Amino acid sequence: RLIEEINVQKKELIGMLAANTAHEIKNPLTAVKGFVELLELSYDKERSNPHFSIVKSELDRINEIVSQFLLLGRPTSIIGEPVEITTVVKDILIFLKYELEHYNIRLISSYPEQPLYTTISSDQLKQILINLIQNAREAIPPDRQGIIEVKVSQQEHIFLSVRDNGEGMTKQTINQLFDTFFTTKANGTGLGLPVTKNIIETNGGTISVESEVHIGTTFIIQLPNKKD
Ligand code: ADP
Ligand code: MG
Repeated sequence: RLIEEINVQKKELIGMLAANTAHEIKNPLTAVKGFVELLELSYDKERSNPHFSIVKSELDRINEIVSQFLLLGRPTSIIGEPVEITTVVKDILIFLKYELEHYNIRLISSYPEQPLYTTISSDQLKQILINLIQNAREAIPPDRQGIIEVKVSQQEHIFLSVRDNGEGMTKQTINQLFDTFFTTKANGTGLGLPVTKNIIETNGGTISVESEVHIGTTFIIQLPNKKD
């Protein structure tokens, strides 16, 4: 019990440190990016240096890590107005579908007939779907006809699932999946799933995973139903 308590406190402390540091990094980072862009503009086209694009994309990467950090540190979410989940998911998938087409991946989605309300905000829902669908995309080998399926359904709770036919995961990976900084990718951050889990749990939901090596992976999210 004591260990459990220490772990909770540790998590809160890390979260707070992460969020504060992330916040402090964001402003100077934005300034640096802006000035690099100005600097590039002051060059003639012919003299323009390819190093600029490297600097800019590395800055984008730092920005991405820092943004995830901010989400990780957020302890509780303010319970907002109920949103209708199908409408929000459809909106988000419009632009993700477009991106997936570049990777030759088909995005399939299905929805319940009746409207379903939950208190998770549309920004949070967007972050969750971006993280899960990015992982799904990265798990699909380029020589496979990729399919990602997003499904909204209702039983007692609201279900949202994201399924892919990618490389799947070993038991060992499944066990560490939600650990902060756990990654199997050469340039992964290991922050996508911890952030996703944090958002879902602060909204009173749960996330679980089913996966089989070479066959694919399904993430299953349960969210409280706020209509009743
Ligand atoms: P990152 O994507 O930066 O590695 P994540 O927290 O998003 O960090 O994911 C952690 C790890 O979980 C990944 O490195 C990968 O090994 C595994 N993983 C997550 N989603 C999938 C998926 N859909 N298929 C296979 N492996 C996955
Ligand atoms: Mg990821």
